[in-house]
Amino acid sequence: MAPGNRKAPQRSVSSESEYSLMEFMADFPDDETCLRWLWTTRYAPDGTHAYCPRCEVETAFHRYETKQQRQSWTCTTCSLHIHPTAGTIFHKSSTALHLWFYAMYLMTSTRCGISAKQLERELGVTYKTAWRMFTLIRNELMGQDDDTTLRGQVEMDEMYVGGKPRLADKAEFAKDPAGRQSAAIRWSHENKTAVFGMVERPGRTWVDGKAKPVRTRPGRIVAHVVPKHPQAAIVRHIDAQVDPDAVVYTDDARIYDRLAKDGFDHRSIAHSEGVYVSGDVHTSTIEGFWSLVKRGISGTHHAVSPKWLQGYLNEYVWRYNHRDDGRAMFLSLILNAARP
Ligand SMILES: [Zn+2]
Repeated sequence: MAPGNRKAPQRSVSSESEYSLMEFMADFPDDETCLRWLWTTRYAPDGTHAYCPRCEVETAFHRYETKQQRQSWTCTTCSLHIHPTAGTIFHKSSTALHLWFYAMYLMTSTRCGISAKQLERELGVTYKTAWRMFTLIRNELMGQDDDTTLRGQVEMDEMYVGGKPRLADKAEFAKDPAGRQSAAIRWSHENKTAVFGMVERPGRTWVDGKAKPVRTRPGRIVAHVVPKHPQAAIVRHIDAQVDPDAVVYTDDARIYDRLAKDGFDHRSIAHSEGVYVSGDVHTSTIEGFWSLVKRGISGTHHAVSPKWLQGYLNEYVWRYNHRDDGRAMFLSLILNAARP
């Protein structure tokens, strides 16, 4: 390999991140640059002309320094102020815009994301502030698109997140007439938060001369917190988001019995009998996603609030669904933040 040019570092091809920290710092070195980026992206592509809602035409805008250092541009015709952060999650935040951008950079530059604790250290903000930033970014910018329709081969599965049984609970399992294992499963269903997820398997095709199949479609994912007895909620998510012509893969849980009756081509794998893969009948795509999510929340051993968990899922789903964008995830995310 040729020696690199230290003055113009090149990202290695195998790098997980599509947008390096060097690139981020070069593009967004400070607060001022972030504010200008919002101004030109949202209002004034050339930096000086924007549509003035009061004049009802495009006019020239000028930035005046004010005593309070108000972050606004002013219409030179009618003196209307436009704040580039108005209507975004950054508006009226006491946290510097540059830190917001850096937080979004961090959330999109690793596969597993980062914790609020790490964000607190990286940004030098309080834990509470880091937590609030995360929640806003996850729920406002990474929300799932309910109009997504999953097609082709679709895997479905549930996951249970939250507390672990205490010793006293385990002693009860041992006494259960239905057996220890089914008592443990029942305990999970009663005490943990249930999540239902569906994923399209990526489309692949073999091309002559290539050793690996070429991906033709990335395969999208959806994941939702569902109530304790999730049957009805699961039915709703399937009806809303799965193409009736899809081939559906699940384990042999009873909640999926209705799929065939509803006309889906349904193939199930007998997890209850210890079988996990039979030809292309498996749910390992969605299970791989669950294990990624679980690794990220393994630090949390107490009950998980559904609202917090949904935000967390949104972040993982968002990264999964944007992994093949062809544009750095960070840029997709800040463009979302700039959307009116
Ligand atoms: Zn005006």
